[in-house]
Parts: sequence; C-alpha cells; structure tokens
Amino acid sequence: MTTLDIAADGAPSISGGPALAQERRLVTAIPGPRSQELLDRKAAAVAKGVGHTAPIAAVAAGGGVVLDADGNSLIDLGSGIAVTSVGNAHPKVVEAVQRQAAQFTHTCFMVSPYEGYVAVAEALNRLTPGDFEKKSALFNSGAEAVENAVKIARKFTKRQAVVAFDHAYHGRTNLTMALTAKSMPYKSGFGPFASEVYRAPMSYPYRDGLTGPDAAAKAISVIEKQVGADNLAAVIIEPIQGEGGFIVPAAGFLPAIADWCAANGVVLISDEVQSGFARTGAMFASEHFGFTPDLVTTAKGIAGGLPLAAVTGRADIMDAAHAGGLGGTYGGNPIACAAALASIDAFETEGFVERAAELGALMLSRLGALQAEDPRVGDVRGLGAMIAIELVDPATQAPDAALAGAVARRCIAEGVIVLTCGTYGNVLRFLPPLSIGDALLNEGLDVVAAALAAEVSA
Ligand SMILES: *Cc1c(COP(=O)(O)O)cnc(C)c1O
Repeated sequence: MTTLDIAADGAPSISGGPALAQERRLVTAIPGPRSQELLDRKAAAVAKGVGHTAPIAAVAAGGGVVLDADGNSLIDLGSGIAVTSVGNAHPKVVEAVQRQAAQFTHTCFMVSPYEGYVAVAEALNRLTPGDFEKKSALFNSGAEAVENAVKIARKFTKRQAVVAFDHAYHGRTNLTMALTAKSMPYKSGFGPFASEVYRAPMSYPYRDGLTGPDAAAKAISVIEKQVGADNLAAVIIEPIQGEGGFIVPAAGFLPAIADWCAANGVVLISDEVQSGFARTGAMFASEHFGFTPDLVTTAKGIAGGLPLAAVTGRADIMDAAHAGGLGGTYGGNPIACAAALASIDAFETEGFVERAAELGALMLSRLGALQAEDPRVGDVRGLGAMIAIELVDPATQAPDAALAGAVARRCIAEGVIVLTCGTYGNVLRFLPPLSIGDALLNEGLDVVAAALAAEVSA
C-alpha cells in the first residue's frame, strides 16, 4: 500500500531537493501500476471536482524533476503552477521549515504575534514596486489575498465597484470567481456571484491588434460609461495574465490604466500571484511595464511551496481597514513565514532573477524556431520563465484547444509535465522551476516539439 518504499526497488533516491538525479527517466508507462493504485484511491476518496493534470503519484521533487511512485522521473515545466520557483525542497526552505516546526507551529498572529510574520512584511514592503511607505498583511492563498485587497480598497475609497479584465483569473472563492472571466471550469454552476464586479477589455496584441494606449482608451471608455469613476473602488489586473493565457499587454497599456486610476482616486491592484517573485526575470512583473500599482497581491512563488499570500501596498491604503478588520486564524503561519524568508533569501542571493531571464531567452529562441516551421504555433509570448505558445488553425487563427490538450497529454506520457491555459484552452504554458538546468529544459522542449509534430491536426 505504501508508495514510499521505492528505494528498495532500486530507484536512485526518494529524497527530494537538488540531490535528486536530474534526468528524464521512464521505467513504466504513465501512469505506472503504483500511480494507478493511488489514482484509484483518489477517485474513490477525493471529490471529482478536484482534478489533476499528470496521472502520477508524486513521491519526491527537486531541481527540474518530479519523481513518481513507479520510479519514473518527469521533467517539470509547471512548478506546481508557478510555486516552486526556487526549486522543490530547496535546502534553505527545508532547513527553515524544520527549525520553525520544532520551535512552534502556530500561535495565531492575531493572538500572539511573532517575528517571522513581521520580517516577511518588511521584506515585501522593501521588494514590491514603489518607493513610497508600504505595509503588508499576510493570508493563506492567492484568492484570499485578492479578497482582502478588494476589502481594503473599498474601505479606503468608500466606493464599491471593482473592475477586472477579460481573460482574468483571480481565484475560486465567491468574490474571486466573480472577478475571474472564464466560466468553465472555474465558475459554471457555482453562482450567484458577488455583485459590483465589472469587466473591461484586456490588451491582447495577438488578437486585438491594438496599441497599448488604444487598448487602454477602449477599456477606460467601458469603465467610465458602464461603471463611473465615482463608484469605482479598484481596478485589478494581472500584469501578465496567468490562467487566461499568458497574455502580455501591449506597451503603454498598463501605464495608461495606472494614470487613469491615479487621476480618479481608484486603487490599482496588481495581481502578481502568478507573475511575482523572479518568475518573469524581474522580482515583480509590474517592473517590466513602467507602472506602479497601489496594492500588490502575492502568493504562489513566495514560500517555496508552503501556503502563504500577501497584500502589500501604500501604507495609507493598507491602514484604512480598522483594527480587527483583517486577518484569519492561519494567515501568516509561522512555518510558512520561515519558508518565505528562506525563499526570499534564495531569490536575492542565488541569482534567480537573472536565471529566470536566461531560461526565458532559451525558451523564446527554441519556441520561436518551432513557430517558424509550424504555422499552428500562432503566437509565442511571455517574459522570463513565464512563456507560452498559442496553438491555432493556421488558416483562420481560430484557437485549437484539442491540439493543445493532445500535445500536453503526449508530453506527460513522454515524461514532461506541461500545463495548458487560456480562455480558449489552446495555450501551452511553460513555468519551469528556476532551478532547472539548461540540458533538462532543452530536453523538455525537444519532447514538446516532437509531441506537436506527432499530432496531425484535423
Ligand atoms: C493562482 C492565482 C490566484 C489564486 O491563488 P490561489 O492560491 O490558488 O487561491 C489568484 N490570482 C492569480 C493571478 C493566480 O494565478
């Protein structure tokens, strides 16, 4: 029954971290028998709504690989959805977690404060964009951070409306489902949704053909006509959209939106839950676009895999909420904070920002070459280690979700974990751990190219 005894079967190691052999190795079909056994238990015990991408039972991970219970070693091009940016089981994170777990596991920061939480807030205030005075509050998940950013903006502005964009993804709680654009699978059947949420058109250069300023003018016109600045508490936007398709807005779009928000007393929230923490070749993606948000939401990459999230921003806005108005039992858990401090140390001292840019250059050149020879690759886009290809019908540019799904499944069967995304489901996204080596990344991209070539579109 146990899945942890595979060392006895001759697999090189089941401890994770960078010591794990950095290779793609298939010793069974995917899923192998031990993975299948777990998937059968999952089907019987876990709610169907909780899906999975790779049909494996993970037992260890580190560097650029995930090891399964059958001894297969898969190349990781997903990082558990942009979470393990410093690498799975990074030694500093492991050490910090072990030390903190032995010290104390919980007091509730609202009952008995502790240093780790304050130190994470100080680091976030220092690292996020903007040289004004900042404050932070910590939570458990990206969705919870977004919920709290909206609460804070409403309290500060004394207004209610919130604008989000086409293709936006902000989470799965009730308010964040309302902010999220795509119905299936995130929202369908789960309404009614929170009110006072409005949607504006996003800059999507591949499909709208607009310059950044023109796309911003279009969005601002919708906001002014359909909401009205006097009613608007916040505009929330991902500087590079994640689940919505890794859409990079045209130059000038974000600064124009930011200028309009500033001129109209609207709080601009940059949702950097996916794009933050070195992922894009800058500590925060907002830095690439020449604008400074009022509030930033962070999560995913912040703590090397432990659940932690934050809202950080202008001190006067953050302080608008009354004492006791923000918080939660677990928010800023001491073990998660210790992991975040270790991860932030790694981000700042181990060259991960530069490494993300290098990985991005490698991926862009490989995927650009793929686009040049295969017209089904309609667009290659992204920044740093947050890169995607959009697959289309070459004649019409119509999204080809079936092709994206088939390529992703074929990659996983060949031992490479690849994620899809996009409103139309036709985008393959690449989010390798920043600890992956060039050789392994190149091998992963070889498998992607072969999988694409093997799929003959209808
Ligand atoms: C993943 C994500 C969220 C939600 O984060 P959870 O931790 O899953 O709640 C919110 N915003 C963006 C941009 C995300 O990518």
